[in-house]
Amino acid sequence: MRGAARVVVVGGGVVGASVLYHLTKAGWTDVMLIERDELTCGSTWHAAGGMHTVNGDPNIARLQQYTINLYREIERISGQSCGVHLTGGLMLAGTRERLDWLRMAQARGRYLGMELEMLTVDEAARRFPLLDKRHFVGAIFDPAEGHVDPYGVTQAYAKSAQIAGAEVVRHTRVVDLKPRSDGTWDVITDHGNVHAEHVVNAGGLWAREVGRMVGLELPILAMEHQYLITEEVPQISGLPEQLHCIDFEGELYLREERGGMLLGTYERAGVPWSPVTTPWDFAQSLLPNDLDRIAPSLEVAFEHFPALGEVGIRKVVNGPFTFAPDGNPLVGPIKGLRNFWVACGVMAGFSQGGGVGLALSQWMVNGDPGSDIWAMDVARYGDWTTLAYTSAKVRENYSRRFRIRFPNEELPAGRPLRTTPIYDRLHEAHAVFGEYCGLEHPLWFAPSEAQAREDVTFHRSNAHTHVAEECRAVQERVGLIETSNYGKIEITGPGAADWLSRVMANRVPAVGRIALTPMLNDRGKLIGDFTMCRLAADRVLLIGTLAAETYYLRWFERHLPPAGVHVRACAMEHVGLSVAGPASRALLQRLVRDDLSNPAFPFLTFRRLDIGMIPALVGRISFTGELGYEIWVSPDYQRALYELLVEAGSNRGLKPFGARALNAMRVEKGFGTWAREFRPIYGPYEAGLGRFVALEKGDFIGRAAAVNERSSGGELRLVAFAIDAADADAIGDEPIWHDGRVVGWVTSGAYGHRVGRSLALGYVPAAVAAASAGFEIEIIGERRPAERLAACAYDASGGRMRS
Ligand SMILES: Cc1cc2nc3c(=O)[nH]c(=O)nc-3n(C[C@H](O)[C@H](O)[C@H](O)COP(=O)(O)OP(=O)(O)OC[C@H]3O[C@@H](n4cnc5c(N)ncnc54)[C@H](O)[C@@H]3O)c2cc1C
Repeated sequence: MRGAARVVVVGGGVVGASVLYHLTKAGWTDVMLIERDELTCGSTWHAAGGMHTVNGDPNIARLQQYTINLYREIERISGQSCGVHLTGGLMLAGTRERLDWLRMAQARGRYLGMELEMLTVDEAARRFPLLDKRHFVGAIFDPAEGHVDPYGVTQAYAKSAQIAGAEVVRHTRVVDLKPRSDGTWDVITDHGNVHAEHVVNAGGLWAREVGRMVGLELPILAMEHQYLITEEVPQISGLPEQLHCIDFEGELYLREERGGMLLGTYERAGVPWSPVTTPWDFAQSLLPNDLDRIAPSLEVAFEHFPALGEVGIRKVVNGPFTFAPDGNPLVGPIKGLRNFWVACGVMAGFSQGGGVGLALSQWMVNGDPGSDIWAMDVARYGDWTTLAYTSAKVRENYSRRFRIRFPNEELPAGRPLRTTPIYDRLHEAHAVFGEYCGLEHPLWFAPSEAQAREDVTFHRSNAHTHVAEECRAVQERVGLIETSNYGKIEITGPGAADWLSRVMANRVPAVGRIALTPMLNDRGKLIGDFTMCRLAADRVLLIGTLAAETYYLRWFERHLPPAGVHVRACAMEHVGLSVAGPASRALLQRLVRDDLSNPAFPFLTFRRLDIGMIPALVGRISFTGELGYEIWVSPDYQRALYELLVEAGSNRGLKPFGARALNAMRVEKGFGTWAREFRPIYGPYEAGLGRFVALEKGDFIGRAAAVNERSSGGELRLVAFAIDAADADAIGDEPIWHDGRVVGWVTSGAYGHRVGRSLALGYVPAAVAAASAGFEIEIIGERRPAERLAACAYDASGGRMRS
């Protein structure tokens, strides 16, 4: 074992081996992988090896496509077979809703270049003769599915890396990781130490333990998972290899294995494995079978695929593998730890391992993952993802692995966890709550307790009419919304303004003013959007996305000067309420001494005011597009503020409103939001944020790329559409058609109650954006005519919010 390496990858499962290979591919060859036993000895060796391209997040779907296409490459370099069986795959629907879901998956696949084919039950049965047609209503066929040999894949990655100069060390355990003051690491093993510039935690089942070596509690949990292999099934004897098959309603997956069928299930009563610490003596091991636990699933399997009930079971495998709370991997650098990276929580190593290795290696070598990997960025989690919260969410996620998550569906595990002081007041007002970063927030308000529940559906739900009333109240009178679920970061110090001017694309506002600003990476792509509120010469409050708080802080940390600027996350120190609508000024004016008239307190003013007896920060801004005020107070005052506003609004028709109405109104206004319209694949001009990029202010991060984008115009355009929809609106990720071709994708959709139209925002190529006609948006498998709007749907002049 060498005494020094540029990178030490801890863990020789499929993920660590992929990271190692991709580092060499990106040009870093002085790299080493340390494995405590044999390669694959964790969760990799006993995997079923299935691979799919379909994923709920299009960016992850892209990385899955990449992974599957990679196997030929590493076979060629290494000479090691990956045992690729590209059989193609069927996804079976047993209900109408699932068929809708498949149609939506097919539609999403269109702009990802996937060739997904809808099949009738008869067609599905012709391709997969084991199914009993009575239990199904249709299917989708994906030619890019199949299975691989887990051992072969891992070896092929490792050998390919070794050919490029990487070292693979086996039977050596990393027992500790010690940082040096220069940001490098001493990797302490049971066979000597290695000095490394970077460390990657690819510890799989032991990633938590490796994280704890550096004081990190990663939100991952291993679940026991069982599959069985049957004796030979006579009905398929002599036929070409059976397709990979997912039976969603049966919650089963199947593939052929040596004349028999491999049958796996994600049972409802899933069992976590080693919930707190993973034993180090577990290697190439399996867990005792528990067929009773999966008996209900097996009964369904024998009904849906009767031939399986007629043959014996050759083998049962019960093995653990890890999940993050949302089931997506944890990838990237860790805030507060220099040169420490993670690639773990990968629950589908054979679909995702290649993409994870690619993204992480790009990030390490080039400082940027090279694609939009927000959905698997480790920074999407924060303090709330404790061990117990993670356990609740992972168990829920496991038990729902094959169930539909409707776009308006809120899941119950781990709730309520974080609440604000007015939670019970909102509950009394019949709020229907959603959860975001563990925090409860109102989605909409029902007229009575009995009506305060929402049907989950792809279509308009029972909330539709109530949300319409909330929007009407905001448009005609005044509405009140809790806005605590924003991230807040305070920047202070003598260098605060100059530093912010370098990190943000817009100018830092004058004291007492607000400025909206994109934040760009070096490639000039959007990595954040903020409301900058200037409280004093040396104090700015940034308001942004709560889920991205760690992501922002990690970026800030990278760019902080040695002194003069202090950055502090303070989301829950400033909880919020916002009043919006034409009567909001009069309402607030009753409660404050200061003059709120338009000349005295114009649009984009930010000031410390007393509201009644309550000290508050008040900004004149609203995401609704109406006259409005955002009010921030410390939590101990929020309840009093709520009572005061409700009381003062009682004779002005004040109505509480929630996130659904807010979303509908921001879509009407064409206001983008993080992770939908604003992501690191779009530039500011493409996203319609050009007016917030102050090129003339001097240098800032991403300026050179922004200059180029402005002169070229960028490749894409964010465009607003009105859709001739039936009873379902766009929700995001639907394909946008133009003249019979898929040209783009929807980022957000909603019914615009103020304009009485179904609306969507989405990206199309700049050349197509100018077309005035010929657009369609595919909603649940139906191409609906869509009108490209020349401006946003509501109050395009912005007069209402400035009045
Ligand atoms: C029954 C079953 C079926 C599955 N089926 C599929 C499937 O069909 N398709 C699919 O894509 N996925 C499947 N999976 C999931 C798949 O196995 C995982 O996604 C994958 O194995 C994760 O790989 P990994 O490298 O992250 O972790 P692991 O395989 O656990 O690798 C981690 C490695 O790190 C080493 N290590 C940890 N700590 C240290 C240390 N301190 N020092 C040195 N070495 C260390 C371990 O020894 C281990 O070898 C299945 C899993 C199970 C259990």
